[in-house]
Amino acid sequence: MRIVRTIVELGAVPRDGVVGLVPTMGALHAGHVSLFEAAREECDTVVTSLFVNHAQFAPGEDFTRYPRDEAADTHIADRAGVDILFAPSVDEIYPDGFQMWVDVQELSKPLEGEFRPGHFRGVATVCLKLFNIVRPQRAYFGAKDAQQVAVLRQMVRDLNLDLELRVLPTVRDTDGLALSSRNAYLSQQERERALALPRALRTRDPVRARALLAEAGVQTDYVDVLEENGSRVLVGAIRIGSTRLIDNVRLEGESQ
Ligand code: AMP
Repeated sequence: MRIVRTIVELGAVPRDGVVGLVPTMGALHAGHVSLFEAAREECDTVVTSLFVNHAQFAPGEDFTRYPRDEAADTHIADRAGVDILFAPSVDEIYPDGFQMWVDVQELSKPLEGEFRPGHFRGVATVCLKLFNIVRPQRAYFGAKDAQQVAVLRQMVRDLNLDLELRVLPTVRDTDGLALSSRNAYLSQQERERALALPRALRTRDPVRARALLAEAGVQTDYVDVLEENGSRVLVGAIRIGSTRLIDNVRLEGESQ
C-alpha cells in the first residue's frame, strides 16, 4: 500500500482501471473494512482517504479529541487490500484563502443538520474535493450515516458528478451497537446505556422508539423517519454523557 500525503504525489501514482474511493476520518474499524472489502471486490484500484475534517465538526464538538492512530489505520487498510492511503494535511485540503463551500440546502437542515450546524456543508465540501482529487468511478459509504448518504446523492445529482455512490450495510458489534469510532469514548456502563438506541430502532416505530429511549433515561436528540433513495429509514441520535451516537434501520423500500 502506498501512503501519499499530497495531491501532487497522488497524481503521480498510477491508478489503473476502475478506481474506488473510501473516504474516512480514520480510527478504522470493521465498518470501514467492509467498505474497503467491497471496493476491493468491485474496483481495480482502491484508494482510501484519512482526514479528520474539522469543517464538519460544529463548534464545541469532539474535533480535538477525535481518536487518531495513523499507524493502526495504516495496518488495517493495508490488510484489507487498499492500494493507496491518502492522508493529507489540513493545509493540503484547506489552503490559505480557501472560500468555496458546497451546501445541499434542504436535506442538510433537519435531523443531524439541526443538531450539528454546518456539518453537512463540511461533509459535502470535503467529499467533492476528494472526488476531484482522486477521480474515482465509485465511492463507498456506510448506511449508518443515512442522512449523509442522502446529502451526497443529492450533490452527485445536482452537480452532475460522474460517479456511482455505493452504500454498504451497517456493521454492528455482537451486542447490536453499530460500530463507530466514537464508541471508544464509552465506558462499559455507558456502552450498556447506548444499547437503548439500536433496541429502540428495532421497534421500527418512531413513537415506540422515542418512548423506549425516554424510559431508559437516554437523552435523545431525535428519532424520526428519513426518506433515502426510495426507502424510509428510521433514524435516531442520542447523547450518552459527552458522546453523541447515531444509528438507523431501514423500514422499507429498495435495498441500498
Ligand atoms: P467516518 O470515518 O466515521 O467518517 O466513516 C467513514 C465511512 O465509514 C462513512 O461512509 C461511514 O458511514 C462508514 N461507516 C462508519 N461506521 C460504519 C459501520 N458501523 N458500518 C458500515 N459503515 C460504517
